[in-house]
Amino acid sequence: MEPAATDCELVESIGGLDRLLAGPRRRGSRIGFVPTLGGLHGGHGSLIETARRDNDIVVVSVFLNPTQFEDPRDLARYPRDLAADRSFTARAGADVMFAPSVEEVYPGGPGIVTVDPGVLGSVFEGAARPGHFRGVATVVTKLLAIVSPSSAYFGEKDYQQLVIVRQLVADLSLPVGIVACPTVRDPDGLAVSTRNAFLGPEERRAATVLHRALRAGKDAVRAGTSDANAIEEAMRATAEAESAVALEYASVVADGRLEPLSTVAGDVALLIAARVGAVRLIDNLRVVR
Ligand code: AMP
Repeated sequence: MEPAATDCELVESIGGLDRLLAGPRRRGSRIGFVPTLGGLHGGHGSLIETARRDNDIVVVSVFLNPTQFEDPRDLARYPRDLAADRSFTARAGADVMFAPSVEEVYPGGPGIVTVDPGVLGSVFEGAARPGHFRGVATVVTKLLAIVSPSSAYFGEKDYQQLVIVRQLVADLSLPVGIVACPTVRDPDGLAVSTRNAFLGPEERRAATVLHRALRAGKDAVRAGTSDANAIEEAMRATAEAESAVALEYASVVADGRLEPLSTVAGDVALLIAARVGAVRLIDNLRVVR
């Protein structure tokens, strides 16, 4: 049964959010924050539920941040349905949905000062999407300054983003805890994603190969393979058997980091990206030993 909707206040201005949070801040309430682009689904829902368990107040931002979209077509077709997102956040148990306009977040246009995630932002997704992680790091920094939460919740689904957010919080000494939440998957293994809605039925079926490729890599690690090339080859072979899928990368890195490995020792993360038709999908699997 669907959980009953709670009251979830919609706030569109930074001033309005400040007024709403003034009391809880004064009382020292724990504020949990879940930043999103909107188009909410079960992945976002699990972050909100985790934040709900840990905090007195849960704030979800729905902000389709233009500065992290390097492809204008990707931004143009991204779902925008504030009413649907509002009922979703209410059902998931959030107290506040912060949905500012672009002008509210970037008055007078994108700022001059940005947050550069350095080398972390130029590999893997950053190589495929130049400028993407500068946009992410900048907006996350701004949203953390606006909301000033005790903890912020991010999905492991976006592994590189999580690595970058952790590093930026450490390097900029931001007073916030970062909580990582496990990837939510459909029963056939496909990681839930806003972009899955763009897949046709045949593409949707083919897209499950990403998870199978990750499983093949995990099996190789578990079987004792320490040669990273051989692990990556196991992932590639599985992915390339699916002709509807154009593999971009299949890589193994040390868990929590981004440098490629030649020899596997300790915990690792397997990363994959592929195009399925016009849709670019990413996924990952941690292998913890
Ligand atoms: P997005 O709206 O795509 O920027 O996602 C907002 C947050 O939800 C990010 O921290 C994502 O990593 C997280 N997220 C998206 N999909 C999933 C998923 N399938 N499982 C867990 N977290 C997710």
